[in-house]
Amino acid sequence: MNRLSCASAMLAGAVCLLVQGLAQKAPVRAVSLEEQRTAQQMERLRANPPALHAFLLRIPKGGDLHMHLSGAVYAETFIQDAAEDGLCADPVKLVLLPNRGMDKGVPTCVEGTVPAASALKNQKLYDALVDSFSMRAFVPSAGWNGHDQFFATFARFGGINKSHLGEWVDEVATRAAAQNEQYLELMHTPDFSVAGRLAGQHPWTGDPAALRAALLGAGLRDNIAANRAELDAMDAGRKQREHCGTPDAATACAVQVRYLYQVLRSAEPARVFAQTLLGFELASVEPRVVGINFLKPEDAYLAMSQYVTQMAMLHYLRGVYPKVHLSLHAGELSPGMVPPEGLRFHIREAVEEAGAERIGHGVDVLYETDATGLLQTMAQRHVMVEVNLTSNDVILGIRGKDHSLASYLQAGVPVALSTDDEGVSRIDLTHEYERAVLEQGLTYAQLKASARTSLEHAFLPGSSLWAAPDQFTTMRGGCSDGSAPAPSCAAYLAGSEKAQQQWELERRFRTFEAAMPKSQASAKGGAL
Ligand SMILES: [Zn+2]
Repeated sequence: MNRLSCASAMLAGAVCLLVQGLAQKAPVRAVSLEEQRTAQQMERLRANPPALHAFLLRIPKGGDLHMHLSGAVYAETFIQDAAEDGLCADPVKLVLLPNRGMDKGVPTCVEGTVPAASALKNQKLYDALVDSFSMRAFVPSAGWNGHDQFFATFARFGGINKSHLGEWVDEVATRAAAQNEQYLELMHTPDFSVAGRLAGQHPWTGDPAALRAALLGAGLRDNIAANRAELDAMDAGRKQREHCGTPDAATACAVQVRYLYQVLRSAEPARVFAQTLLGFELASVEPRVVGINFLKPEDAYLAMSQYVTQMAMLHYLRGVYPKVHLSLHAGELSPGMVPPEGLRFHIREAVEEAGAERIGHGVDVLYETDATGLLQTMAQRHVMVEVNLTSNDVILGIRGKDHSLASYLQAGVPVALSTDDEGVSRIDLTHEYERAVLEQGLTYAQLKASARTSLEHAFLPGSSLWAAPDQFTTMRGGCSDGSAPAPSCAAYLAGSEKAQQQWELERRFRTFEAAMPKSQASAKGGAL
């Protein structure tokens, strides 16, 4: 019985065996009565998107593994921050600018620009800035598409002081808590001024070992103290706002946050290498930084022309720092964006050469050479794909049946839904769940598998709660589904941050499913 006919059977009240996990090739297990009821309830709500949204808001979601911190903050926050910082705003170009000094608390702005604070009293300017900092109200025009608008937003709000970073982490953690999320891996680019300066003095020669030795010898590690201080300030700022550790602690305090070090891939090879090396060095000594990722438009000239070189750099550095995790944006491309040859190898190189454990987007996988073989490799190696449906729509124009999600599911590749840039895209993870249900036809069992997969592939330290990778059937460590862990299980959980999060997710699923209406009659009463 396939997933859709299984869903239909469940609607009719029949007992059904659901495919466990998103992968069709995964083992089959019996589904609890509570889970069946929950799946039935979701199927009923397909025809009522607002009610479906309310249902999906509360569903346990595990983690969001693909979230850029600056792209996750909403424009309204940036305008407020710019006003506090005394920045100026260009009312025509709709960008933030530094001031020319302060006069009695009021910024002096160059001719033709105004204090950003004036937007708080000028609704027209306020609206225009929100649109400029996001995809809200965006309409493509000649020579300017969604891709251009999306990536242009970051420079427009980029001048805001880093003192707001803690406030931003609080914003995304609070939003996550409100949607029953429990874990975030935030992509962030800490200061790399030392690495950047040294890159200018040590050109790329094609010998990564020699360049690494030269950069470390010249003091690249001096950058690490500034990075750790930045993380300290972010965490302290967040905790202060959320009153963590006090009787007034916000629910957001329960959201675990870790960081991925972002490397800007559209740069000269020497700078990419120096920044990547700094990321590996930092992640080796700083447990809050759990891995590395590359970003910037994959179709940019340097990202395309240096792609193979960059994967070779990562291959080398992964050998030197085997404990540091790696996720890579790869295959975030659509036909026509680059020549056909540019669509043929990025995901394979990221998986096989760089050794990426997760792939961000992976949209163009069917355009790769031997796509079937690549999908098999990813399934066999349990390389997870971070699926960002709205981002792929607004940047690449790829949605619905044109999306590769169905092919990944068919091939048994682990996938998890994520947001990418929820502020710029004006979404949240619940929106992506809704899109997955209504546009991609995912079932409740598949959403549950997505949540479990997100924690299974989180870069948290420790062994998985599950005995076999991506098969959520048998627990390790003497653990079994229940309200309280047995002593052996408690000891196992104590030794693994990852398993603790997975155990908590199972608890949340039990709570969520137990709240479902017991009969179809009561379901009609409107319980979501
Ligand atoms: Zn991304």
